[in-house]
This record gives sequence, C-alpha cells and structure tokens, in this order.
Amino acid sequence: MAENRQNRSRRDFLKRLGWGGASAVGMMAMAPLNAFGRPDEQPADPGKMSIRENRRTGDKVSLLGYGMMRLPTNNRTINQEMVNQEVDYALSHGVNYFDTAPIYHGGHSEEAVGLALSRHPRDKYFVATKLSNFGRNQWNLESAKQMYQRSMELLKVDYIDYYLLHNVGGKGKAEFKERFEDNGILEYFQQERKAGRIRNLGFSFHGSIETFDYLVDNNDDFEWDFVQIQMNYIDWRHANAQRGNTDAEYLYNKLEKAGIQCVIMEPLLGGRLANVPEDVKSMLTEVRPADSPARWAFRWVGSHSNILTVLSGMTTMEVLQENVATYSPLEACSDSEFALMEKIADKMNGVPVVPCTYCKYCMPCGFGLNIPENFAIYNKAVTDGVLPLPDKTAPDYQERLETVNKLFQKGLNKKQWATKCTDCEACLPKCPQHIRIPNQMGRIAEILRKR
Ligand code: SF4
Ligand code: SF4
Repeated sequence: MAENRQNRSRRDFLKRLGWGGASAVGMMAMAPLNAFGRPDEQPADPGKMSIRENRRTGDKVSLLGYGMMRLPTNNRTINQEMVNQEVDYALSHGVNYFDTAPIYHGGHSEEAVGLALSRHPRDKYFVATKLSNFGRNQWNLESAKQMYQRSMELLKVDYIDYYLLHNVGGKGKAEFKERFEDNGILEYFQQERKAGRIRNLGFSFHGSIETFDYLVDNNDDFEWDFVQIQMNYIDWRHANAQRGNTDAEYLYNKLEKAGIQCVIMEPLLGGRLANVPEDVKSMLTEVRPADSPARWAFRWVGSHSNILTVLSGMTTMEVLQENVATYSPLEACSDSEFALMEKIADKMNGVPVVPCTYCKYCMPCGFGLNIPENFAIYNKAVTDGVLPLPDKTAPDYQERLETVNKLFQKGLNKKQWATKCTDCEACLPKCPQHIRIPNQMGRIAEILRKR
C-alpha cells in the first residue's frame, strides 16, 4: 500500500524534534507527558497569542480561532462595520484562523467574512469553510461543486485553507457513503486538494462512534488533514451520557493516536460554561479569583496539545478581547486544576439543562418558534436554581413559577414560545446534539402553562 501522507508528515514532525527512526506511535510515549497524558506547554512570549503548528503544512495557527457563526447584528442583519472592526482586532492580536459555513447566519456569514478578510493580505489569515449539504436533494456532485464555488466567490479567495465536510456522523456509515462517497463528492474534493485549491481537507463531527471509527480507521484511504470535534470539560466524559454523542475523550485520543490534529468547536458548550451555577463559580474563584468561568473552560481545552485551534463564536468586542487575553499566551492547566474541572464536570452533569449549543441548525421553525432561545432561557432558569420547580406545596413554588414566566416574557415574543410547538418534528433530524426538540418543547410548555 502507498505510504500514508499523515504517517509521513507525523514522522517528519517527529524527526524535526529529533525523534526520527522509530514508529510514530512508539515515539508518542517518549514525549514529556504529565499525569494527564499531556505534553507540558512550552513557555510563550508574554502578551503574545499562543501558536500551534500544522504538522503537515507547517501553518502557524493561532490557538484561538474565530467562529463566524454568531456575528454582531443590527435588526437581524449582520453589522458589517462591527465585523470589520472585530476581524481587524483579531488579526492585529495574532488570531489568524476564521471559520465559516454556507449555512451560518441564514447564508450570509461567508459574504460578511469575505468582505472583512479581503481587506487584508491573503497570506495573513487562514479561512475555513464547509460543504453544508444537509438536504438530501444536495447529495450530488453538481450541488457540491456549486456550493464550493459559491463559497470561494463569497470569501473572495482562489483557494481555501481548511475545507470540511460539514456535520458528519449523524446516521452512521451508510449515510456518510451516500452523502459523500458513492456520488463522487469526496473524490472531487480530494482532487481539489491535489490541485492546491484546498490546502487541508477534513470533516466536522457530531454523532455515532461507528461513523467516526470508519473515518479514522480508514485514514490510509481518506487522508484527513484535520478533524473538527466538539470538546469541552463536560463533553470530555459526559457527551454520551447526556445525549448519545461520542465522548470527546474518545474522539481526541483516537485522533491523537492516528496523528490527525483537531480543531475544536463548542469549547463553552453553547455558552453554558460561561454561565455556570453559583456554587460552581465559587469553586473556581476560590482557586483563581480573577478568572471568569469562560477563561477556565478555554484554558482547559487549550491545554491539550493535539489541538490546532479552538473556535469561539465571538459576537462582541469584549468577548473577543477576553478570549484573546486568555490565549496570549495560554497558561496551561495544572494537574490539580484538571482534577478540579473533572469534579465540576461530574457535578454539572447532574444539572438538568437542555444540551443546546445555540447552533441554530434547527431553524427556522415553520411555526415561528425560536427554538434555541427557548432552551437558553430554560437553561438560565436551571442554572439560576429556579428550575426544576419544587413541589406545589413548597413556599417558593409560586414565586419561582412567576420568575420563569418573567424570564420568557422578557426574552421572547409569545409567538415564539415553546407553547406554540405543534410537535411536527420537522426540526428533529437537524439537531447535531440529537436533542428531542419537540419533547423538550413540551416540557417547557408544561411549565409555562402552569401559571
Ligand atoms: S416540532 Fe415544534 S419546534 Fe420543531 S419545527 Fe415543529 S413546531 Fe417547530
Ligand atoms: S436545538 Fe439543536 S439544532 Fe437547535 S440550536 Fe440547539 S443544538 Fe442547535
């Protein structure tokens, strides 16, 4: 069999470290690992963004990547002026990886990203976009080519640095074959990579272990350059228990062993880890009083060495500035901090929130519901300790019911409430977190109707 490109690049990488000659897997055991199996971080320049090297292309990628799915808006349209300012700030502070997709922001993200980035020299940034062929009618080569070429036009580029098959994994290996392999789509993108118009080819993953194993175990044929996975301190060991996704620990370790670098999405689990319950916040501030829960979550993810970049959907300049500061440079978690986060993950796993990451793939709802916002408000009530409701006889029962109602009235027009869900199930197959949306809407509606 022809030599695998990944193995070759891994060996080159090890050679650069002066470890050439033995097998890559064997050599991994010689890295200076700490008790958690992570090579210790190298000291970085104070105030400078931490950088990770793409072991195949040598790209020097910023540890913080900009996820362009939650851009600032004005009356629901993207605020281009603000996007430009944020992109300029990011670039001038060392952030050079920008991740978008044809479906983000109702199809307008790529255009906004192209407008913002094209004001800068092409060699100053890496742009990532995806084949978001979610509808069955798009599972053909012609549609894939159109989507890909349209991405290039909107992004104003003649090559794409990181191209991904979007949201792979849902219904198993058979679906992957039908969606990407049997119709020649994957082969086409592999040729585009050969031609240099795609510099790195990968996939973003949510879902069944069977598909993941198939894609990684057969990497001699696929030759993935990178894989994007959902990883944060809760999903490390609780993704499976919470919603039938594969635990990040499994995904990360398998990719590391296969010599494939990861791009990370959802480091804050859709914002949930920035807004942790009060008792968890106290556990964190006791150790580092000045650090926000979001900073803890970013430090935890960034402390894993097989990561190329950590994506964050940063809407406001304040959030961007905080995240830039967190990784300028990364201060890796100590072993005791890792142990603390593990304890917190176990504790938070028992909190009955809906594991929505606010990706909006389920939108629009044909009946006008704002699905992710219903979940966000419900989750806030849970993390604030208002929900679940106590027994009817509890002295604060009525007060808590009122608080939930007020939260919904403040956050959403009544036409968008869970109470309007018709149980049509159109949203069900679209959710990468496998949330039973109509069931959850039913639960929320039941609470709202109690008043
Ligand atoms: S099941 Fe409910 S939330 Fe989902 S699309 Fe239908 S009405 Fe909207
Ligand atoms: S319900 Fe699912 S698809 Fe909809 S925003 Fe939440 S995670 Fe995304």
